[in-house]
Amino acid sequence: MFNSLSDRLTSTFKNLRGKGRLSESDINATIRDIRLALIDADVATPVVREFTGRIRERALGAEVSAALNPGQQVVKIVNEELVEVLGGKTRELQMAKRPPTVIMLAGLQGSGKTTFAGKLARHLRDKGHFPVLVAADLQRPNAVTQLEVVAERAGVPCFAPERGNEGGHDAATGEGTQSYGDPVWVAQAGVGQAKVRQYDVVIVDTAGRLAVDENLMKQAGDIREAIQPDEVLFVIDAMIGQAAIETALAFQQGVDFTGVVLSKLDGDARGGAALSVASVTGRPIMYSSIGEQTKDIEVFHPDRMASRILD
Ligand code: GDP
Repeated sequence: MFNSLSDRLTSTFKNLRGKGRLSESDINATIRDIRLALIDADVATPVVREFTGRIRERALGAEVSAALNPGQQVVKIVNEELVEVLGGKTRELQMAKRPPTVIMLAGLQGSGKTTFAGKLARHLRDKGHFPVLVAADLQRPNAVTQLEVVAERAGVPCFAPERGNEGGHDAATGEGTQSYGDPVWVAQAGVGQAKVRQYDVVIVDTAGRLAVDENLMKQAGDIREAIQPDEVLFVIDAMIGQAAIETALAFQQGVDFTGVVLSKLDGDARGGAALSVASVTGRPIMYSSIGEQTKDIEVFHPDRMASRILD
């Protein structure tokens, strides 16, 4: 991840080293190299344009510092702008003033949502919380079972509809009368159960589709409306490339997510999604998923990620 982008930027900056003064053409050549490196890394075109525009403006305006040579100054500017593009400050999970904190997960099928549900549960459990998972993905035949397995691995309980039980339970308490086939109801009942049983975090897994579609969005929107989550996390596969923007904007419109989870950052994605999504949606990247195991989760720190790219 980011290896190629990182190599490209590092070699661009090498050319600046040792220069006493940077001419406008040095700066233009550097900006061109940065632009090409970003495009090759699958960063969305509007983001590339804005990013390089800001760097050019600042580099030409050159805040002069006695401590840094001109080359170092450009690297510093690029670093600061990268942190901004990646969302600025680290953004912590917003916990509800009155528990339970309700976290809804949304994203395309295969994005790594269910796996992430387990990772987040484990991460929060390790921090002293009592999370419960709710299986509101009733679309994919195997999704409920998969979430139950994930919950077991994470060492947390899972609220799942009982297959074949059409009698159902009461949405407020989980003990009542409705059908189990309705994901909105299952999500509501899960939150109700968490309240009754005093879990302090409820993580609700919702259905994904292979591509954005209206039914999926409506269902996710209805669940959001019904459970009023404190956070809606949009899980996106970092390998998605140029499709990242379109997908992220569709989910933003459909569920108005509050934060982004980048999954499969351990793969050989070129980094475009990471660099585009926060910038285009204005929503922070909050976690990275870096493998298939429950432990493979990291809080996302824009400054550390920028340093990693420029190292
Ligand atoms: P969902 O359909 O969005 O719920 O996606 P899943 O959680 O079922 O994940 C789809 C596939 O991606 C599974 O094979 C997971 O093991 C795999 N996966 C999920 N997260 C990661 C990750 O961070 N890294 C890697 N390498 N694989 C992942």
